Amino acid sequence: MKLTKNARFSTLCLHAGQEPDPTTGAIITPIYQTSTYVQEELGKHKGYEYARTQNPTREALERNVAAIESAPGHAEGFAFASGMAAIGAIMTVLKAGDHVVCSDNTYGGTFRLFDKVLSKFSLSFSYVDTSDLAATERAFTPATRMLFVETPTNPIMRITDLAAAAALARRHDARLVVDNTFASPCLQRPIEFGADIVVHSTTKYLNGHSDSVGGIVVAPGKADIEWLRFVQNAEGAILSPFDSWLVLRGTKTLALRMAQHNANGLALAQFLDAHPKVRHVYYPGLPSHPQHALAAKQMRGFGGMLAFELGSLEAARRLLNSVRLHSLAESLGGVETLISHPATMTHASVPADKRQALGITDGLVRISAGLEDIDDLKDDLTQALERV
Ligand code: PLP
Repeated sequence: MKLTKNARFSTLCLHAGQEPDPTTGAIITPIYQTSTYVQEELGKHKGYEYARTQNPTREALERNVAAIESAPGHAEGFAFASGMAAIGAIMTVLKAGDHVVCSDNTYGGTFRLFDKVLSKFSLSFSYVDTSDLAATERAFTPATRMLFVETPTNPIMRITDLAAAAALARRHDARLVVDNTFASPCLQRPIEFGADIVVHSTTKYLNGHSDSVGGIVVAPGKADIEWLRFVQNAEGAILSPFDSWLVLRGTKTLALRMAQHNANGLALAQFLDAHPKVRHVYYPGLPSHPQHALAAKQMRGFGGMLAFELGSLEAARRLLNSVRLHSLAESLGGVETLISHPATMTHASVPADKRQALGITDGLVRISAGLEDIDDLKDDLTQALERV
């Protein structure tokens, strides 16, 4: 099977990085569940020596995601045991004394890693609303070597202009790193806008079935590729063969799933926006979103993530305890619809005053719209909102 040079996104999702198994012709890449490889004679092997360093199942996934994040052969991918392990590996491109400008509304675990772990190693961080480029530029110092952006942000769905952020980082001799977990490469490909490194928690849309934890880094630059390959092996936080296989199966249906996530996300946002008990809806696909035009420009669809304000902890509690089809759980991007309370769940590690400043109030509820029939989701929210 040969992919043409201009193969389109859903074709790449299905086929990129994978060849029929050379031993049997199996169309699906096998799970190479081995720790080592027998060498033919001293110094002669098939390119595989030890499974932390090389594994064919992981390599197929890495080639696949690199192809769908940019173009076949343009970038390389490195799969890790979790999204946080992937972000941890990226941060090793920096050295003591470097400064990072980071989206203030970033995932709570990323903030925790930067604030509690990496600050011990003489890296410093400034948190800023990266949707405001003037404020972002003001946060740069002569020591800034990285701009770390999440767009859309979790859970307030703010958008950062990727092309402008890439230009800004370049002017300051810094890398632009984009956490693309919320959008997936189906909706947004930051490398096309000039990003140097893209990271995903594959736990979310890439795997898509809520049955694996993992992370992946994609980079087009030669020096970054060499370093990331080195550090993946040196630190060793690799994705297992079985999880690699699961994510590889997940990306085959990414385009189809994202189309339905987009449709259900938009329909739920419109439904909630019109509901009298809902004070505000955060969803980039609504024309009322302050950055709707920018989102439409740099994204191909607005995704399945939305948040809405109910005004108080008690109102949020009543809703969360009344839903039946929506599952009360952390995480996102799976086939089933999840509902959560950011202030006490995903963002509990963010200090209360900072949460308030970001709009992550006690009355805020987040939904990861899954693939259920939209009328069943609306019926469930209708009955739960009646109890608010
Ligand atoms: N980035 C984002 C945007 C996330 O939402 C998450 C997890 O929720 C992570 C990174 C971390 O990924 P993981 O849980 O796979 O370590």
